[in-house]
Amino acid sequence: MRASENILGIDVTALDYQGIIYEIDQVIKNNDKANVIAVNPEKFIAMEKNAELKELISKATFKIPDGIGVILASKLKGGQIRSRVTGVDLFVEILKLADRNNYKVYLYGGKPEVVSRTKEVIERDYRGVQVVGYSDGYQNDQESLIEEINESGAQIMFVALGSPKQELWIKENMGRLNVNIYQGVGGSFDVLSGNVQRAPEVFRKTGTEWFYRLATQPSRFRRQMALPKFLFKVLFKSK
Ligand code: UDP
Repeated sequence: MRASENILGIDVTALDYQGIIYEIDQVIKNNDKANVIAVNPEKFIAMEKNAELKELISKATFKIPDGIGVILASKLKGGQIRSRVTGVDLFVEILKLADRNNYKVYLYGGKPEVVSRTKEVIERDYRGVQVVGYSDGYQNDQESLIEEINESGAQIMFVALGSPKQELWIKENMGRLNVNIYQGVGGSFDVLSGNVQRAPEVFRKTGTEWFYRLATQPSRFRRQMALPKFLFKVLFKSK
């Protein structure tokens, strides 16, 4: 049983980057399968209206505490989770693991120029990684995509279709793919390829990346409302 902590009915993984990377490496070495889902206030709110999303998050191998909201919730409930494990940083840590072990990686999602640029950046910065294939996120022929991924021999795949599309895609296809590790990475290809800037370090270090996002992209305001709603539920509801 992996270390975890129950927040609103979800067993959030209570491991730091090092702990998760160790476990991911074990999964690959044992030729098992595991998936990583980032949990954040938005997903907790979305889950309430979407039982399918709740079920698939519950079943994910690693439910990483993505963002300050989950850390605050843990503190409010007297829990132990103190380190954020963000989707984009874990993506980078998995790339470093793949770099050290020459693991095979497949990239799926994003616009055509974004995913091909992501491949180039990975090959430039993580020379040990074998990018064995990639595909943009606007493909309709799913059957040939599945075949291509299986033929590539990928051990790790990153799916960047946005949430919850990527989680649903992973759930639907994990059974017929031969890949070991599946991570839904949202807009991370946009970040890695330089299409979208990350918040400056000072915001990231202090856990106020949400504030930077809100100030620079006010249209995200509705999404940001998930945080106060989520904290309210954590305080006043047990499940
Ligand atoms: N995307 C895609 N196919 C789709 C819809 C979205 O490949 O049908 C990609 C889109 O190009 C972008 C990412 O999914 O790169 C979504 O990023 P967003 O920031 O919306 O995701 P979040 O991290 O907020 O879940």
